[in-house]
Amino acid sequence: MQQRQFLRIYKFGGASVKDAAAIGNLVRIVRQYGADQALLVVVSAMGKTTNALEALFQLAHAGQDYRAPLAELAEFHQGVAAGLELPADLLTDLLTQLQDRLATLLPADFDKQYDQVVSFGELLATRIVAGALGARWLDCRALIRTDHTWREGRVDWPTTERQLRAALPAAVLAEGPVVTQGFLGGTASGATTTLGREGSDFTAAILAYCLGAQSVTIWKDVAGLLNADPKIFPDTVRYPEISYQETIEMAYYGASVIHPKTIKPLAVRGIPLLVKSFLDPEAEGTRIHDCRHELLVPAFIRKTEQCLISFEAKDLAFISEENLEVIFGALAQVRLKIRLMQNSAISFSVCTDFSAYRLERLLDLLREQFTIHYNTGLALYTIKNYDAASIQRLTAGRELLLEQRTRQTFQFVCRGEEPS
Ligand code: ASP
Ligand code: MG
Repeated sequence: MQQRQFLRIYKFGGASVKDAAAIGNLVRIVRQYGADQALLVVVSAMGKTTNALEALFQLAHAGQDYRAPLAELAEFHQGVAAGLELPADLLTDLLTQLQDRLATLLPADFDKQYDQVVSFGELLATRIVAGALGARWLDCRALIRTDHTWREGRVDWPTTERQLRAALPAAVLAEGPVVTQGFLGGTASGATTTLGREGSDFTAAILAYCLGAQSVTIWKDVAGLLNADPKIFPDTVRYPEISYQETIEMAYYGASVIHPKTIKPLAVRGIPLLVKSFLDPEAEGTRIHDCRHELLVPAFIRKTEQCLISFEAKDLAFISEENLEVIFGALAQVRLKIRLMQNSAISFSVCTDFSAYRLERLLDLLREQFTIHYNTGLALYTIKNYDAASIQRLTAGRELLLEQRTRQTFQFVCRGEEPS
């Protein structure tokens, strides 16, 4: 246990492994900053590979011709491996497995089969990165145990902790860096699960929690944790340090900087999370840990592709606890997550991520009992630690379909997606 305190976890996301040059940069970072102590490297799929695999899976599942995009995916990965001068057969077994999976998809069980296919992004990427580092490649699917909630596997923590500790004793970790997949887990019966899109950060936290790591570093293409996404909002500022609690809330409201499930396991065991730029590894970045601060500058968060759904009881009855129970039950059943909700005497509204498939199922479940209206193509804005100026800045010129304010948070739903 004592020696595990020297374990650090580095997580590299898709942008940091998007091509051979990016992986070369990763290798330099690991050699320069991670060489002096035990290191576990967690890697996501390269660039936009997960999206490409989703598209490929959909074609295959629909019985359509997927040969061209499959060949493109294979060539891309092989090209990167060749660019790094790795052995020509490095990816052969994985690519054959992927091909077999796609050729034998069953019409049922969409979500389960999604996991069996989409997981190959991380398998391929880690094989390449482990090769480039000369490091051990670890298949985390046998160690991170989840239940059968496909596409959002729920972690069995005691089993995972036991398995990870057995597989990675201090002596093994001392031998040099180990490379493993973000985003993946496995069931007791050996099926692959995924942990939810962008779930590799969460993987880093699972590993840190179970192995008692000293710290987790997420290497990103931004300078640290910022008060807004610089691609959407101008004039961002970096938080040099920030508490676990603040970070959890930002992730909850949809800040895409860190996966929402990442913080809790780290907070429970007091493991600091460092967010640093792989483009400027010397720069300070952000330290997320147990700290207190004076009021923080407002954080701006935008979620697009939102849907606002409102329910009215058909008999014009008041929205009652009984009605709400039915609505919540149906939302849970179709797995639509509520981002914001509001009720009036006769109607109840929720803002959720838009999914045509889940929305259709929701309507099927509830249209007999409720009159349902919905708007799609909306944006949900959240200002955390708002002040009058920040509200004015964001709401000016926008038609708000719904707004809500608590002591620290101002949120609104509006049409269109253009930032100010
Ligand atoms: N590759 C997965 C995704 O794009 C997981 C991750 O990037 O964290 O969703
Ligand atoms: Mg990714």
